[in-house]
Amino acid sequence: MPHTCKAALVQCMDFRLMKGIREFLDQNDLTGDCDLISVAGASKCIADSSVPAETEFLLKQIGLSHDLHGIKHLIFMHHLDCGAYGGSAAFASPEEEHDRHVMDLTRTRDVLKQKYPELEIKMVIAKLDDAGALSFEHVG
Ligand SMILES: [Zn+2]
Repeated sequence: MPHTCKAALVQCMDFRLMKGIREFLDQNDLTGDCDLISVAGASKCIADSSVPAETEFLLKQIGLSHDLHGIKHLIFMHHLDCGAYGGSAAFASPEEEHDRHVMDLTRTRDVLKQKYPELEIKMVIAKLDDAGALSFEHVG
C-alpha cells in the first residue's frame, strides 16, 4: 500500500461535523485517501495569525501532509456557528458571518498558495441544519 494520499482536509474539531464530514469524504472519493487535520476554527489561526504558535502548528501539520504523503489537494473547511468565532451570535447577520468565513478562507488560501504553488486548494463552508445534517458550499 503506497504511503501517499490524494488530499488533506483542514476542518474544525467540532464533533457536530463528524458525520457530515464522513459523507463529504465519501462524496468526493476521499475516504481512506485524505489526511484529516482537526483544529478549533479550522484555518482561522492562519487567517488572523493572532496566535503565532497555533499558526505554526497548523502550517506544520499541512507541511507534514505535503512532504510525507505527497498530497495534491488541500481543502479548507470552515463551518457556520463555529465556536472559535463565538458562534453565529457573534455576528450582526448571517451575511456578515458568511463573509467573514469567505475572507478568512481566502486569506488562508493565499498564504498556502505562496508556500505550495502546485497544490490545488479548495475552500468550503459547511452549514449544520437543525436535524444535524451538513450541507456544503464551495467558495472561491
Ligand atoms: Zn468550529
